[in-house]
Amino acid sequence: MAKVLLIEPDYRNKYPPLGLMKISTYHKTLGDEVVFHKGKNTDLRAEKWDRIYISTLFTFYWKKTVETIKYYMNSVKSPEDIYVGGIMATILYNEMIEEEGLSEINIIRGLLDKPGILGDNDIIVDTLTPDYSIIEPNETQTYRYPVDDAYIVYSTRGCVNRCEFCAVPELEPVYKDYISIKDQVDNIKESSGEKRDLLFLDNNVLASKEFNKIIDEIIDLGYRKGENKFTYINKKGRKISKRKYVDFNQGVDARLINDENMSLLSKVAIRPLRIAFDHADDRYVKIYTDAVRLAVKHGIKDLSNYVLFNFKDKPGDFYKRLRINVDLNEEFEKDEETRGAKIFSFPMRYSPLKGPHSKDRKYIGKYWTPKYIRAIQCVLVATRGVVGPKKNFFLRAFGKNQNEFKKILIMPEDYIINREENEISGNTDEWWSAYTSLEDKSKVLQIINLNKFRDIELYSYSKKEKELLIHYIPKKKR
Ligand code: SF4
Repeated sequence: MAKVLLIEPDYRNKYPPLGLMKISTYHKTLGDEVVFHKGKNTDLRAEKWDRIYISTLFTFYWKKTVETIKYYMNSVKSPEDIYVGGIMATILYNEMIEEEGLSEINIIRGLLDKPGILGDNDIIVDTLTPDYSIIEPNETQTYRYPVDDAYIVYSTRGCVNRCEFCAVPELEPVYKDYISIKDQVDNIKESSGEKRDLLFLDNNVLASKEFNKIIDEIIDLGYRKGENKFTYINKKGRKISKRKYVDFNQGVDARLINDENMSLLSKVAIRPLRIAFDHADDRYVKIYTDAVRLAVKHGIKDLSNYVLFNFKDKPGDFYKRLRINVDLNEEFEKDEETRGAKIFSFPMRYSPLKGPHSKDRKYIGKYWTPKYIRAIQCVLVATRGVVGPKKNFFLRAFGKNQNEFKKILIMPEDYIINREENEISGNTDEWWSAYTSLEDKSKVLQIINLNKFRDIELYSYSKKEKELLIHYIPKKKR
């Protein structure tokens, strides 16, 4: 019996590590002892393991992930007993091999979708049922995944598109347009008990020619809209009844939305429907708004849409897309048939998959600056990362138009976060008047855009420039 340790680096993530959960099943099937832990643990590190698996996620977690691998390096007999796989390991495979100390470990590229990758047997790890028992918090493993009560399944793999900013074409290069979910759900139920929701990790389910079959299966599993009751007995022995939902977590492709597939999708208890709003050009805006209206027309009223920024877009394009969502919300409220439909926008900051900034979150898009990015973060602090449907709130947070939005982007951080307080005290007006009255802004804009005010040497600026820059220096340090 081998001793196997499964490690997920300790970044905060919503979804449990499905790959490790399947590897757990694999080793338990072979009769091995399996321990899972999130992050570093001195006791586990002090033991000797026959094999250690470490999962990876986004490339910008490079530092934390590499540190975790090195932390456990001496907990195995040989570096070859360390297996690292997942998104970052696949995308930055060469960089990992070249990293000092990692050249001898096993780095797995892509999926475990063939037999023989982890051992000399016929088992295909990717098709195994995930072992949910490993993610249950215990004395040493205390992390609770926000999504831990869902059947996590795939009904398709890969994607038919190759969007420049996306890792899927490299991670799952072949589009597989049907995988039965019934067996996946039954097996999870049998091994780990009943779960409430049905979470799909499909990248592009609407591209499937078998979409109607997928919908039929969802309905057969008890997720028909209106019949999606979930009843369970709580710890106090009381019977509790809630609703259960279907979530295509990676979103659906607006370009593929049509009357037929929306009609099918509207039969299931989907919440929310996620549609990415990645481009602001007129052609895509039409595709997107038509798709949203069609979904709402079919009675799908909870929409939660990703809005990519810091890519090739300009800040104005970002504002435009958020505003379109807010205006659509207003439009839906006016009509009795669509009333109650709501779109929540989730701004998603682009980080490149390759190149120098693939390992951190410091990439700045062509039309963006560190100050703009920081300003967006400051605005989103108040909204907890989500832009809701309330128009007044949006106009206040992001401005009434693109010009006001641009003013917010260059506004001192404190004046963005504590907007009201600084408006009442007159600070904001004073700052704006210093800004507008400065004729040649080029020198100060350089420093504002870099967002580095800590070591600013004010003596090298003119009186008027100083009057402006002083607003950017934290009050304590002025
Ligand atoms: S459609 Fe979505 S999953 Fe497919 S390549 Fe584009 S971003 Fe990736």
